[in-house]
Amino acid sequence: MSNIIRTQGFIPDQMLLRVGRMTGDPAYTRTIYKTSLLTQRTALNSIPYRVAAGKADRQIYDCRNTERLPGFKVRFEGEKEVSDQIVNECYKVLGQNRDFLKAVLGINGLDDKGSNFIGSVHYGKDYENAFSNGRQMVLGDGGKIFRTFCTIVIIGHENFHTRIALHCDLEYQDESGALNESGADAAGCTNDMWVLKIKSADYHWLVGKGALDPSINGVALRSMLHPGTAYDDKILGKDPQPDRYSKFVHTYADNGGVHTNSGIPNRAYAEYCINAGGYAFDGPFQVWDQVYNGSDHISSTANFQDFADHSMVIASRDLPKSVDALRKAWAAVEITVK
Ligand SMILES: [Zn+2]
Repeated sequence: MSNIIRTQGFIPDQMLLRVGRMTGDPAYTRTIYKTSLLTQRTALNSIPYRVAAGKADRQIYDCRNTERLPGFKVRFEGEKEVSDQIVNECYKVLGQNRDFLKAVLGINGLDDKGSNFIGSVHYGKDYENAFSNGRQMVLGDGGKIFRTFCTIVIIGHENFHTRIALHCDLEYQDESGALNESGADAAGCTNDMWVLKIKSADYHWLVGKGALDPSINGVALRSMLHPGTAYDDKILGKDPQPDRYSKFVHTYADNGGVHTNSGIPNRAYAEYCINAGGYAFDGPFQVWDQVYNGSDHISSTANFQDFADHSMVIASRDLPKSVDALRKAWAAVEITVK
């Protein structure tokens, strides 16, 4: 069980800081502070990443713009639609995440023991982020820049952090932290492709598509296939993600660039899926999941090379016809594997 606590939500702190500075709106920096309080509170309540025992049921709560979790019960498994559309959307998306994990990985709940899928909407006032504390999803309403957090890519991303925490538990710092972020992006996008039944070669590979206001010059928060091209905007700045290892960004910010350098393994995953052909959820994602969460998963301090080497071992074992596709994908990001 994890003792490593992430202190960032889906929108990276660095991005919130910049938006706060450029807009003069205090909501963004307050969101960083509130998120760190949330994680600290989870930690003080003993075990972080304590999943919610149950029958893989959906439970949606409404915080009514307070910061009390989980909030007021509003729609539980099997109950009919309510008038608040964000509640219905959260219910639907958590179902898409649960059903994907079951169909593609064969797991029942994030812990494979039927942990419930809990979501709290309308969290806080002007809370500009989405967050999982292991036990549940927490969704703010968003505002002018970040329009919505209730999408399958975002919820699939956040919940995969919990799955990682239950297995390899990658430290949220430097290369291991970037691998933690990258796995979450891979899971979110693959969940989306599964919902859409779309092939890897036909997918946009964007993380957070539709989350940015149309006034922003950008298409998403990140591009898995073309890191560094998601946005270039006066408020957000330019997408800082590198697309290969020689462009690795050395920084103390963002837990050592976890949301920046994730561009490197992100691109490796996207290229692997495309090179392998067909559907990402029909082989490549299962290989990736085994690297993070299999019985012989990578260690909590794995770096990119460790991850790449182990992915080759798993692919040789589980999907041998994809080995050349995988080697080519790692070569594209300048990581050499045997
Ligand atoms: Zn993340």
